[in-house]
Amino acid sequence: MLYDPERRWWPQAACRGHPPGEFFADGGGTPDKVPSVDAQALWDEAKKICRGCPVMHQCRRDTLGEEYGVWGGYDQRERYLIRAKLPKAAKRWPPERRLAWGRALSAYRDRGPAMPWIDIRRLTGIPASLAEELVTEWRTHLKAEEARQAEILRLPEPGPGQQDGPPFPDAKGRLDAWVRHNGLISDGYYQGETADGLWLLMNVHSGKSRVRKWVRREDVRFHYPKPKLIMEYEGRPDRARDEEPAA
Ligand code: SF4
Repeated sequence: MLYDPERRWWPQAACRGHPPGEFFADGGGTPDKVPSVDAQALWDEAKKICRGCPVMHQCRRDTLGEEYGVWGGYDQRERYLIRAKLPKAAKRWPPERRLAWGRALSAYRDRGPAMPWIDIRRLTGIPASLAEELVTEWRTHLKAEEARQAEILRLPEPGPGQQDGPPFPDAKGRLDAWVRHNGLISDGYYQGETADGLWLLMNVHSGKSRVRKWVRREDVRFHYPKPKLIMEYEGRPDRARDEEPAA
C-alpha cells in the first residue's frame, strides 16, 4: 500500500490518550526553522512513545504531509527535510512505483473539483512539484497504452457465406457481431480468441439464456472493430483439455 488516507491504524496508536501538548510543543516554530531547545527536548520524549507504537511504520508512511508536531517518530523539521529531498529521491524510484503514485494522485486531480496541490501535499506528503510530475507521467503512460491497444483494434472480418448456414444480415446488430451457430444467426458479444485467431469466444443467445460459445472465425461478422483479446486454450473445441497450450 502506498498510503492510507483513512489512517485506519489510528485505533492502535500508542499516543491515544496522551495530551496533545506532548507531541505539539510550543516554541517549535515553523517546520523550516530549527526549533528551540525546549521544543526539541519535548519532541524527543514524544518520539520515545512512537518507538514503542505498534503502528509506527504506517503512521510514518501516512503523516509525511503533516505540518506540525511529532508523527511516526519524526518531528516537524525532520518531515520537512524529508519532503524537501523527495523529488530527488523519487528519481530513483522504480517505474512501477512512480506510476502507482501517479495513478493515486491523479484520482485527486481528475475528480471535480480537482484537489489543490497543496492539499494533496498535506494528505500524502508528496510535494506539489513532484506530484505534478508523477501525474503527468501517469497520463502519458495512459495515452501510450491507449495508442498501443488501438494498434490491435482491427480484426480481419471474415467474408459472408464461407460456412454452411444462413448468410449474415446486411444490417448491423446492436452488439459486437453476427454469430452463426446451430444453423441460426444471433447478435453476440466478443469475449476473446485463440492465439492463432481461428476460434473466437462469443457470448450469444441460445434458447432461454446467453451462453459463451467457441465459434470459427468465418462464422462471425463484426459490426465494429474490437480490441483483440487472446484467450487460454482451455475449452477450445478442437483440442483435448489436457493438451498443452500452444506457445
Ligand atoms: S507513531 Fe507516534 S504519532 Fe504515530 S500513532 Fe504511533 S505514537 Fe502516535
